[in-house]
Amino acid sequence: MLLNYKAIIRRAIVLLALLGCVLSVLQQANNKISRYSHDEVQRNIQAVLDQNVETMTLLIDKHKTLVEATATKMSGFYASPELVKDFIRRQEASKDIYKYYRIGFIYPDGSALSSDGYLGNLGFREYFQKSMQGEVFITSVTRSVLDKKHPLVNIISAPVCNDEGKIVGVIFETIPNSILSDSMSRGIFAEFGSNALIDNDGDIVAANNSSLLLSQHRDLLSYATLDTDQKHLSVWQQRLTNSSNSSVMYFERDGGQYLHFAPIFLDRVQEPLHVAVLLGQSSIEAQTSHFTNYIYNIFAALFAAALIGVLYYFFDISVQESKNRKELEKIAYVSPFTEGPTYAYLKKKLAKEKRSGYIVYMDMRDFEIIRSTLGNERAEGLLKDIWTKTIEELGPKDIGGHIVNDFFALFLEAKDVASVESRLRKINEKFLMMSTAKDLPNLEAAFGLAPYSHGDDIDIALSKADIAKQSVLSQRDNFYAVYGEAYTQAYVEQVELEKSFPQALHDKRYEVWLQPKFDCFTNRIIGAEALVRLRNAEGQLVPPLKFIPLFEKNGLIRQLDEYVFRTVCEIQKQRLAAQEKVVPISVNLSRVSLYYRNIVNRYAAIMQEVGVSSELVPLEITESAAVDNKDILRLTQDFSTHGFKLHMDDFGSGYSSLAALNELPFETLKLDKSIIDFIGTDHGNALVKHTIQLAHELGMSVIAEGVETQEQIDYLKTLNCHCVQGYYYSKPVEYKEFEHMLQQG
Ligand code: C2E
Ligand code: CA
Ligand code: CA
Repeated sequence: MLLNYKAIIRRAIVLLALLGCVLSVLQQANNKISRYSHDEVQRNIQAVLDQNVETMTLLIDKHKTLVEATATKMSGFYASPELVKDFIRRQEASKDIYKYYRIGFIYPDGSALSSDGYLGNLGFREYFQKSMQGEVFITSVTRSVLDKKHPLVNIISAPVCNDEGKIVGVIFETIPNSILSDSMSRGIFAEFGSNALIDNDGDIVAANNSSLLLSQHRDLLSYATLDTDQKHLSVWQQRLTNSSNSSVMYFERDGGQYLHFAPIFLDRVQEPLHVAVLLGQSSIEAQTSHFTNYIYNIFAALFAAALIGVLYYFFDISVQESKNRKELEKIAYVSPFTEGPTYAYLKKKLAKEKRSGYIVYMDMRDFEIIRSTLGNERAEGLLKDIWTKTIEELGPKDIGGHIVNDFFALFLEAKDVASVESRLRKINEKFLMMSTAKDLPNLEAAFGLAPYSHGDDIDIALSKADIAKQSVLSQRDNFYAVYGEAYTQAYVEQVELEKSFPQALHDKRYEVWLQPKFDCFTNRIIGAEALVRLRNAEGQLVPPLKFIPLFEKNGLIRQLDEYVFRTVCEIQKQRLAAQEKVVPISVNLSRVSLYYRNIVNRYAAIMQEVGVSSELVPLEITESAAVDNKDILRLTQDFSTHGFKLHMDDFGSGYSSLAALNELPFETLKLDKSIIDFIGTDHGNALVKHTIQLAHELGMSVIAEGVETQEQIDYLKTLNCHCVQGYYYSKPVEYKEFEHMLQQG
């Protein structure tokens, strides 16, 4: 779990970094876009200004030229009122061509006449006054006093001079304001801004924003500055007057306004006009957003995609995490060997439930031997079958789990040991049936029991069961034991055995006892088997079944077997040297020992080192049903080529097979006590008879082991079986006694 949190934090950091990158890219993109769109707006404004400069120049120039040309014409007849009147009246015909309302003439005293028949005084008009001073003048937008139908007009005026250059009147042309207003390019700001033509004071000459035109503000500067600050206004006016290029002013009206303007210069017009674009800040932003919106849309789409990606990433992580958790749970709760639950699972499940019964530690007897026989792969496959058979006997309220190797834990709900015992017995029966069916060495489990009630520590219960189980292992006649003081003692003894082994070996407390083998026809000793015993600290003898199974598990058996072998070699050497009677003394070689590397070379080396011949120390090996096992074939052949005599031990005890007789280079067959015990029944006799005959036919000699009765001796004699080992003649004895027996005969 800790690891998961770390992983989450690591991923969160990566994500934050990524998000940071994305945001900074977005930020930069945003800056770029707004700069781009701002530039775009500026470019557009400039384009509008440029275009309007051109359009307005052309338009006004056209009308100004007309007015000036008219003025020039009039300089020839200005003195004749009739001619003037007639001339002006005739201009009416050209009004549609030149798109004016009227052309008129104003005498220096202000009296005026126009092409459409107006007669009156226009001396108060600014354009008249300016032109009387020699200026060509264009008025700001003006409400016509003459024509109610076309209220908004502009008037262009020019002086009429006589030959001496004296101003003798003013020619004016009234044009509809729409000529100028409608010709103005609107650019992209049609909806937002105002395009205008203004004069040097900021007065509006034309504008495409009618509300602006119709409002009381005819002065763009005072409109923009709200007329509030006269000082400001004059500053703006000065800027307007002085600007020879396009420039921009900012006003604070209505959330901020920008006035972009560019001058248009017209020949002989003293005061330049300016084309202008008035844009509110919000309009620019709106316009900017118009540009940016679609780019933002793209980014929004990208961002959404990224977000989905991020969410997916997190989702994926959580999926991954739950996968990991499941994976971990699987590792913890599912055994890779049995594919069933583990002990960890049993613990978890049992802790949750209010149950009482027994925790059982199940250990397959001699599994190490079986493993060495079958090889790892098949042995592991066998664990699965063992598990399958076990759960067949488990009730719905029982729980089982694999511990490790051939160790299993069970929880059996039960009130007393008796009901547990019957179920465990059934499990063992199934194992036996399975091993027979599969032609495997006999499979049998040793069970240790510890009582458990809800709330107990399960681990402690299991180690108690383990202790009980250890005690079962050392006794073949029992398949289960319940934890109690006695078993604790047994376990302690085993630990003690293991710990004290090297010292005990050194102190020669592992004693080699010898059980003589007799020729039942002559009653003479023809050989012996070396059997090890432990002399414990109290001086008592410990039988081999108390420590050999343990040593087969922990590997100490290799040293012990070697020790016994060396001891026997030394006995033989010593007897040879003393020229005493020498009979072959066989030693036992555990199957576990066999699988230590260089076993053959080691034994051959010991033999050489001590200096005895290998026939004097035959090796007893228990043959298991492993005829397909190439290792055992190679090993036995190897021993055989080194001159060792091999005795097939325990034949008929269940670990042996007839096929092995034929395949492996065994010289002697040792009939197990369990077969000898059959003697006396018809079937038993037949079995013993045919086995011995078969062995003889295969060229093997036979030793009958565990012979206890005269009847057995008699029967064996009829089968021509000479060699007999058993209590009938002698139990295993100390070397001194054996020596004595040998001397006797
Ligand atoms: P095993 O190799 O089958 O040895 C024969 C066992 O049968 C011996 O028991 C012997 O005392 C016993 N026996 C012999 N004749 C009779 C009889 O007439 N009646 C009865 N009831 N038993 C008889 P022991 O000495 O207790 O040895 C038990 C087993 O311990 C041996 O069985 C052998 O497998 C193992 N063992 C003993 N010494 C060694 C050793 O040095 N190395 C290894 N690897 N195993 C050993
Ligand atoms: Ca033996
Ligand atoms: Ca035996």
